[in-house]
Amino acid sequence: MKKVKSTPKKKITKKASTPKKRVSNRKYPPKKCEKADCEIIFIPTSKKQKYCTRQHQIDQNNDNRTEREAPGRNLEKIYRHNEQILKKLKEACERLKKSVISLDYLNIENYYHGYNTDSTINSQTGNTVGWSYHYGLEGFNKEKQQFIIHYRENYLI
Ligand SMILES: [Zn+2]
Repeated sequence: MKKVKSTPKKKITKKASTPKKRVSNRKYPPKKCEKADCEIIFIPTSKKQKYCTRQHQIDQNNDNRTEREAPGRNLEKIYRHNEQILKKLKEACERLKKSVISLDYLNIENYYHGYNTDSTINSQTGNTVGWSYHYGLEGFNKEKQQFIIHYRENYLI
């Protein structure tokens, strides 16, 4: 019986170049899903997108409804508010290669001083770091009113 030769590949089929997706050129910075217990950082496709998935939007809306009257709600809003400010300012610091930030910037953004989810001591400086979830503020130089913004990966609510 004749052995069937496998036909050698003569042509290397070129992969069709992937068609360009028609998406908005506008790039939105990655943001954290606003669902309370979700840590996912996603890239929003619109300015308004707050949640990583539709399901998390539904979940959080339901949670909000049940907790609307809860006393902790306003505090949580403040913590989130502070966290967003610190996140924004930290990103600006990194862009500008600055390590400290002056009080003015925090005040311009309407940062609520003294509202922290928790606080820790920076073992290197001995200063207190007041956290708003993932972002923390350390009074770096009290006389000059300078601050350092910290980021931590994990925060367990
Ligand atoms: Zn999520």
